[in-house]
Amino acid sequence: MSANELTLDDLAEWLRRFATIIDENKRYLTDLDSAIGDADHGANMARGTAAVVTTLDQANSIDALLKKTGMTLVSTVGGTAGPLYGTMFMKMGMATGQVMTLTPEEFGKALRAGIEGLIARGKTELEDKTMIDALLPAIDAFDAAIDEGASLHDAVESAQEASAAGRDATIPMVARKGRASYLGERSAGHLDPGAASATYLWDALTDVVKA
Ligand SMILES: [Mg+2]
Repeated sequence: MSANELTLDDLAEWLRRFATIIDENKRYLTDLDSAIGDADHGANMARGTAAVVTTLDQANSIDALLKKTGMTLVSTVGGTAGPLYGTMFMKMGMATGQVMTLTPEEFGKALRAGIEGLIARGKTELEDKTMIDALLPAIDAFDAAIDEGASLHDAVESAQEASAAGRDATIPMVARKGRASYLGERSAGHLDPGAASATYLWDALTDVVKA
């Protein structure tokens, strides 16, 4: 990939890699969801991201790629994850405009718009024990790194680390949203499956920028 920007092909590769990582970990995600949810997160995400992969060649601009990804996730991923991931990608696509490359700043801005859309849709906040606990610290770390003059590669790496830390921080939390919240205190002691799958977004982007 080119040194310090993300092209349409890079972003398609990001989504392809995300689908692969989800597929490799679908059993694990389902195990996490069976502890505090309804044991479908792995299968749902694997079905949705596999469907996304079949659409990637159709997009001829970044906004089209991201919007199509969002719409595909909404229509193929069941449960609450589909609308939330779908909203994030659709809002991200709406924020980029019809372009072929994104600077790191533009990528950060678009992803943050996506995350804000997800937050509005899910009416969720930090420490509700959701995917937001992985997504928000990561985009904050990414933007901070870029502000400080880090390369795209280094900014993605620090976002990946922040995402993993945010994911792991969900373990002691008591869930305040979704099916896990029905368990009350018994939801503590388990990693949130949505935070786990959201961290794969950064694992996938790390692989793309390293390549
Ligand atoms: Mg579920």
